[in-house]
Amino acid sequence: MDPSPIPFNRPYLTGREMLLMQEAVSGGRMAGNGPFTERCHRLLGEATGAGKVLLTTSCTSALHMAALLLDLRPGDEVIMPSYTFVSTANPFVMMGAKAVLTDSRADRPGMDEEAIGALITPRTRAIVVMHYAGVACDMDRVMELADRHGLMVVEDAAQAIGATYRGRPLGSIGHLGAISFHETKNVHCGEGGALLINSTELEAGAEAIWEHGTDRAAFMRGEVDSYHWKQVGASFTPSEMLAAFLSAQLDCVDDVTTRRVALWETYSEGLKHVFSQGRLLPPAVPEHAAHNGHIFHVVCRDRADRDGLIAHLRDRGIRAAFHYQALHTSPFFAPQHDGRELPNCQRYSDCLVRLPLFIGITAQQQQAVIDAVISYSWA
Ligand SMILES: *Cc1c(COP(=O)(O)O)cnc(C)c1O
Repeated sequence: MDPSPIPFNRPYLTGREMLLMQEAVSGGRMAGNGPFTERCHRLLGEATGAGKVLLTTSCTSALHMAALLLDLRPGDEVIMPSYTFVSTANPFVMMGAKAVLTDSRADRPGMDEEAIGALITPRTRAIVVMHYAGVACDMDRVMELADRHGLMVVEDAAQAIGATYRGRPLGSIGHLGAISFHETKNVHCGEGGALLINSTELEAGAEAIWEHGTDRAAFMRGEVDSYHWKQVGASFTPSEMLAAFLSAQLDCVDDVTTRRVALWETYSEGLKHVFSQGRLLPPAVPEHAAHNGHIFHVVCRDRADRDGLIAHLRDRGIRAAFHYQALHTSPFFAPQHDGRELPNCQRYSDCLVRLPLFIGITAQQQQAVIDAVISYSWA
């Protein structure tokens, strides 16, 4: 009998989500910013060390808050990676800013920190970094450049909860950080996110944007008698039901990280002979980074080889997936891109394959994936 297919991902469940959601419902308070939201803020504050945390309906909306907070104007430039999800760019482009896309590094998909400097102009306002697979960019390098040129730094830490840079949690290093709780991420609530505010000057503005552009948060704390419309804002708060679900997950974030890193290590160990042959390349983790086991990927030698590996795995009931199509080659952005070649980024678009990695994958299933990759590498 054929073994059952191995999915690419299965959303993680702790078993306590329904219980806490039930509590939120019977508590009679279901809108946002209630006790479960506060609980998530506290847990995220503890996990990241961020000065202030605001729960949002997605990482995309946390990045929208960041773009609003930076008060970007048409013509402003924002430097960001090309090898990323569209949400890294959309919020800034929506504000009228120009996305200036950078290449990936040669040794890993993260953005090439050394390429940033040459792209800074008098119109540059911000650098958005993205920690691919929870593997930290060189944040000392990025922050040093930003300080020298007076730029803001936003970390798209969508994939990065539980991961660190020189011991510092990702998302807590730039002026602002955005985390995702989409069901494909390590911990989730179906759809959700958070904005981390690491600069005290931005805290009041962030809270106002989160509260429809009002000072309602100060009113709720009893700091003012009534609240007023002070600036542009919107509704970014998830309901208490989602916050209840998420709080069950956030209680387990350390355990999730440990278990995923162990699964990641099993692939790394099981495939080391394949990697030493040199046909497939392993993921590179620099000495400054402790990752969170979000993604295990291999890099094939070209696109045909990548398609071959994915098909070989599919024939054995294993779902593997390539990842981003570089933003500078997308139908929307290609006409706006300044024509610079981004060869590393193109290579990851063409050659990277992600292997199944989720809590609940069995040792037997993981061995089946390893065997299938080994048999492909012999072919
Ligand atoms: C998942 C992801 C996002 C978007 O997160 P949502 O919570 O779905 O909005 C943004 N950037 C990166 C790098 C992601 O991986």
